[in-house]
Amino acid sequence: MNRNEISAQAVLLEPRGPEEVISWAANSFGVVNVALATSFGAEDQVLTDMISKAGQGIGIFTLDTLRLPPETHEVMAATIDRYGVMIDVLRPDPEAVKNMVDQHGVDLFYKSVELRKQCCAVRKVVPLRKKLSTLKAWICGLRRDQALTRAGVGKVEWDEANGLVKINPLAGWSEQDVWAYIRKNKVPYNKLHDQGYPSIGCAPCTRAVKAGEDVRAGRWWWENPEHKECGLHTRRKV
Ligand code: SF4
Repeated sequence: MNRNEISAQAVLLEPRGPEEVISWAANSFGVVNVALATSFGAEDQVLTDMISKAGQGIGIFTLDTLRLPPETHEVMAATIDRYGVMIDVLRPDPEAVKNMVDQHGVDLFYKSVELRKQCCAVRKVVPLRKKLSTLKAWICGLRRDQALTRAGVGKVEWDEANGLVKINPLAGWSEQDVWAYIRKNKVPYNKLHDQGYPSIGCAPCTRAVKAGEDVRAGRWWWENPEHKECGLHTRRKV
């Protein structure tokens, strides 16, 4: 599928629901060539539920940065138990982590944006890129109203940074839509969501948010909003 075809499909898919977008992805790329990237956040859990119910065999993978909170490992186990799915767990290169920590300290991310991005690159971006190089398309739980940096997310778009198609079936959903689905379908979710964490990443880089704060305010809260991506979702819409 070339970029013009992706652009045309993006227009056609915009009014479609997430299940239809997932089905389109499975039929267009083949289930062995498309996979869901999950961090076990609320949106990813909705997509895992939809993918499992569709039964097409779309793969699921996650990044274990080795700095995740225990609650994320708990929901991972609950998800495997509930859906009987195999989850491909990607981890960073131990040598690269050791070199980075030896040079800059274990909590280097608080020292500068550059060092935070270096940590995200070693622990997330490098393992992710390796996985994405085996796929034609990946599915993500991005929503447009999650952050300034996500306002222009399309349901299907060309992922320039990673060289494949990116599919965001929940792009048009609100936070209320996500939680209505979770409650209706009794989807397992990360218990940190009940403690004021709308967006959950690594333990040292995530905090609870106050009422009225942006949903991404608890991620890298010491940085400006325009810096708040880890390099997984650098985007350019087709
Ligand atoms: S979120 Fe924090 S701990 Fe996790 S990879 Fe990025 S900088 Fe490192």
